[in-house]
Parts: sequence; C-alpha cells; structure tokens
Amino acid sequence: MRILAFDIGGTEIKYAVCDENFNLTQKNSVPTNAHEGGRRIIDRVVEIAKSFDNIDRIGISTAGQVDSIKGEIIFATDSIPGYTGTKIKEIVEAATGIPVAVENDVNSAAVGEAVFGAAKGQKNFVCLTYGTGIGGAIYLNGNLFTGSSFSAGEFGHIITHANGKDCTCGGCGCYEAYASASALVKSVNDNLGTSMNGKDIFNNFDNPEIRSVIDGWIDEIVTGLISIIYIFNPALIILGGGIMNEAYITEEINIKLQRRLMPSFRNVRAVKALMGNDANKLGAAYLASKL
Ligand SMILES: [Zn+2]
Repeated sequence: MRILAFDIGGTEIKYAVCDENFNLTQKNSVPTNAHEGGRRIIDRVVEIAKSFDNIDRIGISTAGQVDSIKGEIIFATDSIPGYTGTKIKEIVEAATGIPVAVENDVNSAAVGEAVFGAAKGQKNFVCLTYGTGIGGAIYLNGNLFTGSSFSAGEFGHIITHANGKDCTCGGCGCYEAYASASALVKSVNDNLGTSMNGKDIFNNFDNPEIRSVIDGWIDEIVTGLISIIYIFNPALIILGGGIMNEAYITEEINIKLQRRLMPSFRNVRAVKALMGNDANKLGAAYLASKL
C-alpha cells in the first residue's frame, strides 16, 4: 500500500510518500500561505495529491481541532484564517477518489510515537509539545483518546495558577502561560533585560541568573505534569518541541517528578519524542492505513 502523508502547519505543508513498511520517501514541502485561507490550503493539498500516481490512501495531519470521523476542522485559531469548518476529508476524497484520514497534529504525532517511536509498546502515555503554546495528546489502553468532542488533551490550558496571567484562550493562569517555550524566553528576557531566543538562552546556560530562570520554568513544567500524571497514571510522558532537545530539561523533569510524586505513580518516565518532524506524517499515514 502506498500512502501519501501530509503535515499541514501554520507555515509549511510537508508531505511524503509512505511505503508498506512505513518508510517515508520523496519528502517535500510547500509554504502554507495561511493568509490565503483554509480552502486554498486544501486545494493545494489536492494539487499535490494529483501529481502522484498509484496512491492508495491519503493521511493528513493538520493544525487545529479535528473531527476525525468527518475529517473536518472544528476549530482553528486565526493562524490559519477561515480554516474552521473546512471539510478536508470530503473535499480531498471528492477530488482524488482516494480514501482520506484526517487527524490533529499532536494526535498524529502521538500515533507516530506510539507505533514507531518513543512509545512503542506502551498502552498508556501522554504527549506534550512545548512551543509557542503547549499541545497534548492522550493514549489510553492502546488507543488515542479524543474526548466527547475531539478536543481532549488541551493541556496548555489546564490551570496551574489561580488568578494567574491572562491567556490567549480567554482564561487566566493557564499552564502554557508559564511552561511553554515562549514563556521561558519571555521570562528570561523580562528578568535580564535581554532579547534572546531559546537557543541563546541554553548557550548561556552557565550564567547563574539564566540558570535560575530555567530551573523555575522547569518547576512550572513539572507542576502541570504532576496533575496530568495523577489523572492518567501514564507509564510514559513524551516531551516534544525543539526545546526538548536540551537534555538537561528532561533529566531535571525526571528528578523533580520522582521527588514530588506519590510513590504509586513513580513508575512514570519522561522522555523526549523520537520521531521529530516525521511523527505527524507517520501517524497520519498509519491512521490512513487502517481505513
Ligand atoms: Zn488558556
């Protein structure tokens, strides 16, 4: 079976052909041009799909909240204007005649890690990605858990500070306002009067002031994780996002979790995601292979 896998993000549409052994070949990408709106993005996906021969399935990982049964976007922020309501599965199937699976990007990545990566063989785990915000996905009893309206695992908006900072969701005190990669960058720059990015911060890791902000940020990460661990009792926490390539973060998270968790939860391990940029495409391809 040959599957065409897409990963639609705010800046790029990545795609690749996936063979029956789930090897990705012919990897490529085009700009999303999000400002052109959701419909144009899907038209571009159709154009790309039509340029390939002998495709049996199409798997699409995408930004936004996805009704994975209907294959449509139930909610997307303004990072892709007019994306909410886009009937991806219906449009792409009608235009190509090929069966299509659509899933949210963090959920797709979780499937990719579950089948091929860091969570291989694990039935109960959670994934969190730390970037501008914090995304999440939940695997329970060997299956993706998406909740009653396809929105479960919105870990960025669990509340870790009563009456805390305002959040983009309209609430306040949300986890991502304190524990996202962007929150670390803002916190360092506010404290030191600098304008560093994430890489600069870790290049200056030996600076005690920076180190202290990093350690405070890791405490924020751990605080949210503890609530999540007490709800799901996962064996594994997979940490995604470019910033997690800094080994110090994962090491410290594990040390602090062991210190703060009740004994019956200490089997949990936090590990960094293994599949990188391919996780979304592989997860979407795997879901498409099950159609
Ligand atoms: Zn929020």
